[in-house]
Amino acid sequence: MEDLKQKIRNVQDFPKPGIGFKDITTLIKDATAFKQSIDTIANQYNPADIDVIVGIESRGFIFGAALAHEWGKGFVPVRKPGKLPAESIREEYQLEYGSDAVEIHKDAISPGQHVLIIDDLLATGGTVAAAAKLVERLSGNIMGICFLIELSFLKGREKLKRYNVHALIDFEEE
Ligand code: AMP
Repeated sequence: MEDLKQKIRNVQDFPKPGIGFKDITTLIKDATAFKQSIDTIANQYNPADIDVIVGIESRGFIFGAALAHEWGKGFVPVRKPGKLPAESIREEYQLEYGSDAVEIHKDAISPGQHVLIIDDLLATGGTVAAAAKLVERLSGNIMGICFLIELSFLKGREKLKRYNVHALIDFEEE
């Protein structure tokens, strides 16, 4: 995955001082790299085991929707508060300062459906842990959680011990 890793641009001090932002726009504008990332995610799973892909706003939509299309599966968005038009459920989670939340439509997942959750990046794990709770509140069965990038120095996996977690690219230090 070294070739894919090199396509990711690090933008220092964005959106605030001290953060090294992993910019995936340099990867996805490259046709070969984008295809390789979707194909590599697809090869981690047996699509027969998965009914629906859940992608987290907003960069999880890019990878999740492409994978859903490749497999011929449906796609369900998990969104930031106030964006979904129909009846939704919400899960709040703690940030370093304050809190945030994610939402899903109440009828997005049928009980017992096998779900693969996708996001671009695992940092502290708060966002994806909240998304996983939403899926479980709708009685979805989480078969796996997949990321393009993991910042393993932030130890987000510790919040996801109950799940089968996979990441294509790891950054072990800032
Ligand atoms: P977290 O809840 O801390 O795991 O944060 C994950 C979400 O925040 C993902 O949806 C990422 O897109 C975004 N994010 C967090 N840290 C970074 C970073 N260093 N570079 C790019 N995106 C990030």
